[in-house]
Amino acid sequence: MSTVARQSWGVLTFRKEFWTRTFFSKAKRELESLMQQKGMCTLWFTFSAADNHWRDFHTIANPMNNATNTTTEIDEKEKAIRRRKIVRDNLHVDDFHFHKGFGRFVNFFFGKDCLNASWYWYRTEYQKRGCPHIHGCCRLTSDHPGLHELGQKVVHARQAQIALQSRGLPLPSPCFSIEDTEDDKILISPTADFDETLTLQQTVLEDLTQTIREGVDAQTRMLNYYNNYLITTMHPSPPTDATSDDRDPKTRFEQTETSVHPCHMSNPDLNNLDYYLNVTNACQRHKCNSYCQRCDKNGKTYCQMGYPQSIRHRSIVVVKQDKTRY
Ligand SMILES: [Zn+2]
Repeated sequence: MSTVARQSWGVLTFRKEFWTRTFFSKAKRELESLMQQKGMCTLWFTFSAADNHWRDFHTIANPMNNATNTTTEIDEKEKAIRRRKIVRDNLHVDDFHFHKGFGRFVNFFFGKDCLNASWYWYRTEYQKRGCPHIHGCCRLTSDHPGLHELGQKVVHARQAQIALQSRGLPLPSPCFSIEDTEDDKILISPTADFDETLTLQQTVLEDLTQTIREGVDAQTRMLNYYNNYLITTMHPSPPTDATSDDRDPKTRFEQTETSVHPCHMSNPDLNNLDYYLNVTNACQRHKCNSYCQRCDKNGKTYCQMGYPQSIRHRSIVVVKQDKTRY
């Protein structure tokens, strides 16, 4: 046990040094150089450790005190406490297990037989409790339309549409619909285009109209090439609380002695609709907690990720500009 404790302490010490401003700034410079040389990334991703659900990890890390082998007189809350303790006591095993899984995922999903990334980059971060998670990005070899360039066109077109709308001028057809733009947060640039008191010259009007047309076309291409088949998850049968502001606990997956997380089933039938719905319900529904909750200046609590969100029947491109990033 003393060896294990020493190893865990060693991992924690390493993580402390790993998580310095110098480390982050070096990682940032590496990424910026990569993007300048090989083009912007197509996708961003995050991997989190599901260490509360990894039965194989619990068995490997602590076979004598395995939370999944405990008798029924211990309730689920106590078992969850035990599982968390197994993680805390075996951070080095948890770390190894996580990175092994991440390596397998990357080799397959970003490999030639799947998404086929021309490059990928990632950075490991450690949470306070010592568990790793990974943030990264990759560029797909199929990114010929240039997702980043298309996105820039959509942003300029949204601004152009605001310039026309603010003057009550007619919009070209097609243009962005109310549904397309209702969640946007656009920064208005301090140029004459956005000064409503100035009359636009005919050439400027034509430029704005052309910009909107190109932006609508870029949005269609983004959705067709990427979103509709690569990123979006459709839920054909949303749970009963889908339109509610609060989550019904009954619709959530709870780890118990007998339940198996849908991502952890052995040999699942990937074409089975129920399996797909279970995975979607367990992994892709947001439930507000202390991580996302923030207080505004009036003391009102809100979700920093913007939930609850309305149900959509089609994908849209949302433009959110943040002045702190410019
Ligand atoms: Zn939230």
